[in-house]
Amino acid sequence: MTATMRPAQGSNISLARRAWEIRRKALRMGQVQGQGYIGQALGVADVLAVAYFHAMDYRPEDPEWEGRDRFLLSIGHYAIALYAVLIEAGILPEDELETYGMDDSRMPMSGMASYTPGMEITGGSLGHGLGIAVGMAMGLKRKKNPAFVINLMSDGELGEGSTWEAAMSASAQGLDNLICIIDFNDQQADGPSTQVLSSEPLPEKWQAFGWFTQRVDGNDIDAVRAAFDAARAHPGPQPRAIIFDTVMCRGVPFLEAREITHFVRVEADEWDKALAVLDEGKPL
Ligand SMILES: [Mg+2]
Repeated sequence: MTATMRPAQGSNISLARRAWEIRRKALRMGQVQGQGYIGQALGVADVLAVAYFHAMDYRPEDPEWEGRDRFLLSIGHYAIALYAVLIEAGILPEDELETYGMDDSRMPMSGMASYTPGMEITGGSLGHGLGIAVGMAMGLKRKKNPAFVINLMSDGELGEGSTWEAAMSASAQGLDNLICIIDFNDQQADGPSTQVLSSEPLPEKWQAFGWFTQRVDGNDIDAVRAAFDAARAHPGPQPRAIIFDTVMCRGVPFLEAREITHFVRVEADEWDKALAVLDEGKPL
């Protein structure tokens, strides 16, 4: 089978710097359009940095390479975050950042597979990514393709019944090539996820559904990297779940402090302020 292809292996750019670049690109897109799901993008940036610059095999110049690990954005409204990492990875050209959300752009505000290289599925309606991931992982196994399927979902999607049907199927099928990562920021459209419909105790639930399960701080890059490594290397036949606890708007404290962060309101003059705050913490 095809050799592995980790584009960033051997790079001297740190994962912290990659995460910073992802945050900055997402903020710039938000500034272009005057809006966006920026709280989620800032919160999940560390997870995306590790996924694309440590954990995944892919070829930037050939986004449909058959041997690639598939990254599924179940949460289509997080597209601004995925575009930022696709640009950082060289799958999308940087100058397209300025077209975010505009007519004829390849970067619509909600992720659509037919528009964007590297966007594997059209995510949202919510709760469907994991079911698609199960089908993809089954297909790869039948083709004896060793690639992984990585499904990124939100804590809000834990309230969808389809998520748990898919979780049950994945372990029944022995999908050891499937990694489900959950961005647990304790926010969804209607309020804190633990109050809207609590899914705790979460690790115990995934374990009971037959998954090899980890829960770590999703804004601690070393912990995120170790969790991805353990998920890939786990010798058992189980599918793998990683619950990443993240902070909405991470990296921009005056936005982190906002009470309502699901669709955070950023005034026209605040984009430059947010960028300036981020720039103060630029890693080497
Ligand atoms: Mg959430």
